[in-house]
Amino acid sequence: MSTRKLLKVISIKLTVEGAGVQLGRGFGPGEARLLDPFLLFDDFTNTDESAYRQGFPMHPHRGIETVTYILKGEVSHKDSLGNEGSIKAGEVQWMTAGSGIMHEEMPIVHEEGIQGFQLWLNLPQKNKMMTPRYQEIKSEMIPCLTQDGCTVRVIAGEYTGAKGPVQGLVTTPTYLDIQIGERSPFSIPTEEEDSFFIYVFEGRLSLRDDRSEFWVGKNEIGVLSGGKHFTCAGGKDGARLLLIGGKKLKEEVAWRGSIVMNTEEELIQAVEELNNDTFIKKTTGRS
Ligand code: FE
Repeated sequence: MSTRKLLKVISIKLTVEGAGVQLGRGFGPGEARLLDPFLLFDDFTNTDESAYRQGFPMHPHRGIETVTYILKGEVSHKDSLGNEGSIKAGEVQWMTAGSGIMHEEMPIVHEEGIQGFQLWLNLPQKNKMMTPRYQEIKSEMIPCLTQDGCTVRVIAGEYTGAKGPVQGLVTTPTYLDIQIGERSPFSIPTEEEDSFFIYVFEGRLSLRDDRSEFWVGKNEIGVLSGGKHFTCAGGKDGARLLLIGGKKLKEEVAWRGSIVMNTEEELIQAVEELNNDTFIKKTTGRS
């Protein structure tokens, strides 16, 4: 059985987004082919409130899903479907923008700062204009399994029979939060052709091939090759990582800001709709 190999290690880069939020970008615009169907990955962890409190005021999304996972602090949100609330530590907001959503994401200043990640997942052409949907995942809804020195939270996909609460997604993604103990091994079967990457946010992770050992350290992304298995082990002080995977779409990508479609014409149309106030398809929203 083929084991996934480490193809590339990427360190997150300081990037300024929203109204001046300083975040660490793993990959994003211009790298749409790197990890199809994943478009962008940001780590917005910060203890300095001046780096995150400006937040992300009202902005549109179309054609993608955005996944926000909070580990410390809180992000308040409001959107054009009438949803309003906050994402707290341990919670996930899985938002399918589909035909269009307008929202704001504003971190709340807390003593402990903020720790969280945002992933953008592309939608297939046939689903880009689907009705927007919004899944709010509370911490207790996420299965948490401890075995062989590893603690795994299953947000999406499956691990040893436990299924994540995020369901009914067109790209059948896997999203696991894995805490690995010192030198403990971790292994999971994966669909051979799917794209997979890891993001290490604590400690160091060891990956082996036939001959050598490779390391992925804190704040680094490891891009993985195809394969039927992913296997790794924690370093001296263990490691904590996200393991994220999904089926490749293999479609054209046309990207402008927070809107990702298949063609330039669809982007022009989206901008026109934003300008003449027809971007949000009123029939799909709550009144
Ligand atoms: Fe957004």
